[in-house]
Amino acid sequence: MSLAIYPGSFDPITNGHLDILVRASQIFDEVIVAVLQNTSKHCMLDFQERVELIQAVTAHMPRVSVDSFFGLTADYAQLKGAKNLIRGLRAVSDFDAELRIALANKKLNPELETVFLMTSSEYLFLSSSTVREIASLGGPTAGMVPEIVERRLSDKFAVQVNRRNALSQS
Ligand code: ADP
Repeated sequence: MSLAIYPGSFDPITNGHLDILVRASQIFDEVIVAVLQNTSKHCMLDFQERVELIQAVTAHMPRVSVDSFFGLTADYAQLKGAKNLIRGLRAVSDFDAELRIALANKKLNPELETVFLMTSSEYLFLSSSTVREIASLGGPTAGMVPEIVERRLSDKFAVQVNRRNALSQS
């Protein structure tokens, strides 16, 4: 049985991530979405919330499961017995960083192969950071993230946005 890990921050999961996930699950028998707990990035959502949202939007996908991990992706893949890592590629700007990560992972775990899937054109400019920025300023994220994520973000930022609006009117 072929097993692949799709690691990332998923802060939050976007339609671009989901597209990669759907396509990866057509290639592999099982895909584990692995949420990094120890990312050096400052995350907007804590890892439990990120896991919960991914579980909700992948509940209908029998080949997909969700987990979180702390430490090296290469070690986590070994622990799970996975020989493949999935990563998505958007513009050329992703390539440099992704190549470095893939080579480092190969060094740490020579049996691990990174499989790159190209983004679909409609998600070329979609990133979690863009979604975070729009949501934090009270803008609409429809079409960028699944509905449940959209609702969670607007609930999360509603208080802040209302306070900002009240201050600017006073
Ligand atoms: P990380 O912090 O590891 O970069 P992300 O959650 O930002 O985690 O991304 C996880 C993976 O999904 C990365 O390989 C990233 O390039 C890919 N990805 C993110 N957004 C898209 C998108 N719109 N289309 C295709 N791949 C994407």
